[in-house]
Amino acid sequence: MLLGFNGATTMKADLPADISAAAAAGFKALEIWAEKMDRYLTQHSLDDLNTLFTQHRLQPVSINSIEFITFRPAEEYEQIKARCHELCIRADGLGCDKIVVVPSPTPEGGADWTEIKAESVNVLRDLATIAEPYGVQLAFEFLGFGWCSVRTLAQCWEIVNEVNRPNVGLVIDTCHFHAGSSAPSSIEAVDPRKILIFHINDVEERPRESIEDAHRLLPGEGVIPLDDILSPLKEIGFDGLCSIELFRPEYWELDPQELAKRARAATITVLEPHFEVR
Ligand code: ZN
Repeated sequence: MLLGFNGATTMKADLPADISAAAAAGFKALEIWAEKMDRYLTQHSLDDLNTLFTQHRLQPVSINSIEFITFRPAEEYEQIKARCHELCIRADGLGCDKIVVVPSPTPEGGADWTEIKAESVNVLRDLATIAEPYGVQLAFEFLGFGWCSVRTLAQCWEIVNEVNRPNVGLVIDTCHFHAGSSAPSSIEAVDPRKILIFHINDVEERPRESIEDAHRLLPGEGVIPLDDILSPLKEIGFDGLCSIELFRPEYWELDPQELAKRARAATITVLEPHFEVR
């Protein structure tokens, strides 16, 4: 299993700091936080960024993320598609083959599952058509939060299966898996080749409905039964990218190099009974 580091974990650090922290901690893969790349590219070129990755022997493995892609008014939807195009051009230039895309909150006034599924399928097909010429895959990430239109792995898989495009898959994030009460058995139904990214993290002990991103903890330091997720992942033959993604403001105050090292060590301890880590 390839271990990656997600730039959200060190939210206050800039992209060059993420690259050097991840490399120093022994990671070979980095998930780029999109806003950090936007800021970097106001002063530098894509070639500069390529050079930085090469110098640190680090592979950019995804760009995170295009948020709230569904249920957008027409004008905003045009911006979503334009952003997808822009990030695909950058991904292609960096030799990075994945972009994470995130569903929207359930619209005010509600939407039933048939509507949510139809909208999600349509939008993912539109974006997949944009991404396809660039060789970029879209990883659809369900959010376990109560307000999200796609909350569980079973729902996410139903959508991705219906989309039925070679360049559309999904993300399993342990925080969202836990917060939205996804069933471990739902992993068994998923084609492992369609799990493009596995986001690993833990969360504080609190009612699931009250969980927010800020409650995430390093793997093994919270209450998520990670073994119950890792075992079926191993059983279905998943052996893709596993990336550490935390959004804990307390961690943002730490030295990024120190945080990256702690994150790698904690994650390896949790993964090693199940997976060979590189
Ligand atoms: Zn995630």
